[in-house]
Amino acid sequence: METITEYYNGINAGDYYLCDKCNVSKLSLNEYVTNIRDIENSIEKMRYCNECRNYLILKKWKCNVCKSTGNTRNERELTIKHCDKVVSII
Ligand SMILES: [Zn+2]
Ligand SMILES: [Zn+2]
Repeated sequence: METITEYYNGINAGDYYLCDKCNVSKLSLNEYVTNIRDIENSIEKMRYCNECRNYLILKKWKCNVCKSTGNTRNERELTIKHCDKVVSII
């Protein structure tokens, strides 16, 4: 079944979808469609709210000044600075 149809079928039936990590946030359609992860050896999928997704996915950044790179993991969008400049997310 198409994901969007599936989402609205549930919502129309009075259902809601909770984030598989925090089990607190109700997923918006956008989160439901976008923040999906496959589970190994399963046809089931994990779905996350944006905050948990941000936390789970490592972001790589690169300093535009000294060219060094790094990873960050945070629940919120952070501004990362290196060499006093905001880095690029790559
Ligand atoms: Zn969550
Ligand atoms: Zn730097």
